[in-house]
Amino acid sequence: MKKILAIDDKQENLITIKAVIKNNLSGCKMFTAVSGKEGIRIARKEQPDTILLDIVMPQMDGYEVCKRLKEDELTKHIPVVMLTAIKTDSESRVKGLNIGADAFLSKPIDSIELSAQVNVMLRIKEAEDGLRAEKEQLDQKVKERTKELQRANKKQKQDIVERKRIEEEMHKLVAVVKHSSELVNLSTLDGKMIFLNEAGGKMLGIEPHEVENVNIMEVIPDHLIGLVEKELLPALMKGGTWEGDLQYRNLRTAELTDVHAMTFTVKDPDTLEPQFLANVSFDITERKRLDEILQSSEERLKILFEFAPDAIYMNDPKGNFIDGNKAAEEMLGYKREELIGKNFLKLKLLSAKEVPKALKSLAYSVVGKKTGPDEFLLNRKDGEKIPVEISTYPVKIKNKTVVLGIARDITKRKKAENSLKIALKKSTESDQLKSTFLATMSHELRTPLNAVIGFSQLLNKEASGEEVEEFANRIHKSGSHLLEIIEDIFDITLIEAGEIKITKEKQNIRPLVEDLLVMIKTEQQKLNKHEVDIQLNSTNKNHDLHLFTDHRRLKQILINLLSNAIKFTDKGLIELGYEKKIQHDQHVLQFYVNDTGIGIPKEKQKLIFDVFRQVDDTHTRRYGGTGIGLSIVKKLTELLGGNIWVESEEGAGSTFYFTIPYDKLKETSKPRSDHPKKKQSLMGKTVLIVEDVKSSFDFLDYLLKKSGIEPVWAKDGKEAIKLCKENSSIDLVLMDINMPVMNGYEATKEIKKFRSKLPIIAQTAYAIAGDREKSLAAGCDDYISKPIKAELLMEKIGKL
Ligand code: ADP
Repeated sequence: MKKILAIDDKQENLITIKAVIKNNLSGCKMFTAVSGKEGIRIARKEQPDTILLDIVMPQMDGYEVCKRLKEDELTKHIPVVMLTAIKTDSESRVKGLNIGADAFLSKPIDSIELSAQVNVMLRIKEAEDGLRAEKEQLDQKVKERTKELQRANKKQKQDIVERKRIEEEMHKLVAVVKHSSELVNLSTLDGKMIFLNEAGGKMLGIEPHEVENVNIMEVIPDHLIGLVEKELLPALMKGGTWEGDLQYRNLRTAELTDVHAMTFTVKDPDTLEPQFLANVSFDITERKRLDEILQSSEERLKILFEFAPDAIYMNDPKGNFIDGNKAAEEMLGYKREELIGKNFLKLKLLSAKEVPKALKSLAYSVVGKKTGPDEFLLNRKDGEKIPVEISTYPVKIKNKTVVLGIARDITKRKKAENSLKIALKKSTESDQLKSTFLATMSHELRTPLNAVIGFSQLLNKEASGEEVEEFANRIHKSGSHLLEIIEDIFDITLIEAGEIKITKEKQNIRPLVEDLLVMIKTEQQKLNKHEVDIQLNSTNKNHDLHLFTDHRRLKQILINLLSNAIKFTDKGLIELGYEKKIQHDQHVLQFYVNDTGIGIPKEKQKLIFDVFRQVDDTHTRRYGGTGIGLSIVKKLTELLGGNIWVESEEGAGSTFYFTIPYDKLKETSKPRSDHPKKKQSLMGKTVLIVEDVKSSFDFLDYLLKKSGIEPVWAKDGKEAIKLCKENSSIDLVLMDINMPVMNGYEATKEIKKFRSKLPIIAQTAYAIAGDREKSLAAGCDDYISKPIKAELLMEKIGKL
């Protein structure tokens, strides 16, 4: 439906126009406005097809309204018919045309003219609308096409950039592949090479022009063909990949190269079927060499760790074991599995006293400090304690701090240090001992010497017969005492030098101890110890108890113990006893000497067995003595295979015990005769005294003559031989050893050559090592040590 807008300030004009349009142009919709302003608003809103506009109007006249409508984009295409007052008003019409009016109607309005004019306007408007719509469509099309072209242009530009980029990338890739240090190779599915880069050519000994004549299988060494056929190719044929270590053979040099190969198939982009085999391989010769070095250095480290003599272990910062070597296992007595994960505190490896020191070391190491070496006493699993020296070092493993500990067993060093301390203490003691010994010796030797020299001075013409006897007695006693001391000194010297020989024989014990009791009772009388009772106590009543031992030494032991008992006891009882016992699975005869004497303080009971040691070391000792006796006793007991100890209470008395092995099997051997043969009369016998010292001869001459023996004197060995040859009445020879011209051994050997049955007794300086053995070896029948004891000599002469 067409729309018509009429603008006129006079309502009656509007009614007229409305009526005309209604009557003549049915189907048109009519809008009216009574002012220009309202007209413009309606025109903009309703877009009428024609506007009928009055010129003369108050406020805004028709010209102004037409001007505004034609300037407005929204309304400029709407035809405007201006209503003029008079037909000939050309001035108004020109003005109207200038501002864009399309037609004019003059008043009063002729209905036919109005209708016709409006019709024309409507047609023009319609035609214009059509043209405008067509133009708009065309414009739209042009716009769209332009856009399309612009898009296509942009895409083409982008395509070019992308292609360039791809080309550049391809270029780079080809360069990378060509110049890559890795082997890159492409072959057909049946292995025919179609591409091999420079590095590959070098590795395989293939020139670029030869590539296509080679099958990839040619470079696989025989021992790997199986692997390639069974694993590699099947994996690729399935369209997969294969990666692993291989070796390639250089076709020119036959040299093998270790490689790590990565192989895969290149697929057809359309069918996705495998098209080529691709292979990228890295030369791993160097890596393998390094691996081997690394492995061997790791093994070396492992060996060093495992076989290190010191315990090496690792702890976490809390003190839990991470690992430890063999030496650590041995040191602690725990297996590695028992240690790992356990805390050293929980394992109680250290005493509570040492824990703070260990924790301090741990804390130091955790903050990066080395500690030690510090000494600790370790508690082993089996409870044994061992001294160790521990150093700790902070170590970083995978950025975590762990504590490396090295522990050294210092048992040996400690022992050495201790014995050094004891080597030092003893040497100080020994210095002291030496001084004490010299003082004691000086005292002990001077006392009897004083008596000898003093009383021998008194032996002169003025002395009465009784006095002579008394003095001689004293001189003899003192001389004997001196001899005892000297014999003791030589004894201990010989024992310590290992020169004392033990000669075991079967010995009936009973008569031996009974003899001893007689001896000790004589001693008791000499010492005036009348308040002391001496007894023998044997639980074993068997009088024929035999012992296979060195009876001389056994006697020496018992004499020493009994002499001490008498010496240190003023009243009470001294008891000697023995009984059979089993000690350490061995049958022994246990002897004891018990006294009620002064006793020995506990702390001295061990020490008295050491040489020169006495309970009372001071010069003012009451009892005298050299401190040698018990050390001889101890050594002799040990030489006889037994042991000795003492039980004593100060002031109450002492009991010395010692044992001698008792072997029943040995009892079968022939017993030594315990009873001396009946005394023979020596009257009228001739004895050759071989002696270079006149005083010694005089003594023997006197002694023998007293027994009715005829002495003959030879001053050296040569003379002795001569006399033995000439004088067949000689019954026995008393042979001195040390003589000028010819010594006793040689003389004995010679004499025995022509008078083998003639008895010869050697007079040995007993203490000199080996004299006794040498004289027996030279052929002597017996020996007697100097100074000669008269009674013993006569006994020996009588026997022979
Ligand atoms: P001495 O020549 O001094 O007696 P010994 O070696 O025989 O040397 O004895 C060493 C020390 O042991 C003696 O000096 C004495 O102190 C102590 N002793 C030995 N036997 C006895 C004992 N029966 N009673 C008390 N003390 C003894």
